[in-house]
Amino acid sequence: MKAAVYPGSFDPVTYGHLDIIRRASDIFDELTVSVLNNHLKSPLFSVEERVKILEEATKDLPNVKIDCFSGLLIDYAKKKDVHVAIRGLRAITDFEYELQLAQTNSKLSNGELDTMFLTTSLEYAYLSSSSVKEIARFHGDISMCVPAFVAERIYEKYGHGSCR
Ligand code: ADP
Repeated sequence: MKAAVYPGSFDPVTYGHLDIIRRASDIFDELTVSVLNNHLKSPLFSVEERVKILEEATKDLPNVKIDCFSGLLIDYAKKKDVHVAIRGLRAITDFEYELQLAQTNSKLSNGELDTMFLTTSLEYAYLSSSSVKEIARFHGDISMCVPAFVAERIYEKYGHGSCR
């Protein structure tokens, strides 16, 4: 069985992430989307909230599982016996960081963890979780960035109620 893990902050999940999830789930028998519990960041959504949102957003994809982890990705992948990490690439700026991360993970795992990159679909190239939060904070329209139920949750966090 071919399995992969797609790690990330997903704070919150966007249509860009969902596009990568959908395409990776077509390639692999099982895809685990795993929320990184990063103590250095102060997220908008807790890990538990992000897991719940991802579960809802991917409920039509039977071979996609949602999980969370803290610590090093290589340790998590080893525990899960998964040898491929999925990452998405939007622009050349992503590439530098992602290449370094992929090489570090390969080195640290003695070649046990490989990284597979999927390039963003053009319509989502501009999307990032941070820009979605910035737009929502100022009551902007995020309907083209995230599913409607996610938009509601984000507006609630900023105290805007369930609509703009
Ligand atoms: P971000 O805050 O940048 O969205 P994440 O840690 O949640 O960061 O992202 C997880 C992975 O998804 C990273 O590999 C990132 O490059 C990728 N990703 C994020 N947004 C998009 C997008 N719009 N299209 C393709 N890949 C994306």
